[in-house]
Amino acid sequence: MSKPRISLKKPRNRAFNQQQGRCYYCGTLMWAKSPKEVISKLKVTKKQAESLMCTGEHLTAHRDGGDDSYENIVAACLYCNQKRHKRKDDLSPVKYKALVKRRLEKGRWRNW
Ligand SMILES: [Zn+2]
Repeated sequence: MSKPRISLKKPRNRAFNQQQGRCYYCGTLMWAKSPKEVISKLKVTKKQAESLMCTGEHLTAHRDGGDDSYENIVAACLYCNQKRHKRKDDLSPVKYKALVKRRLEKGRWRNW
């Protein structure tokens, strides 16, 4: 019954460019093809840069009827993406973004 999934690559790359390569949630610079630039710009290690990989994030989840259209995909770093999906309370993207912002202000996000 489920629709065949098209690659997220295109909408993700478009979102990446529209967001100037910054994460939808935490605003940190991400990388799409190679972490090199991020490593030198942010002075992070290779390991740290792994969490800055650009991922496609659905604003409305598949199970809630969200699709892979450009309007429904934003670019988020791997860290924020994984953290969101590990949560049990299923915050909406807007609420999650606000939470990330609050944590960032307290210096309690992405402790590396
Ligand atoms: Zn992020």
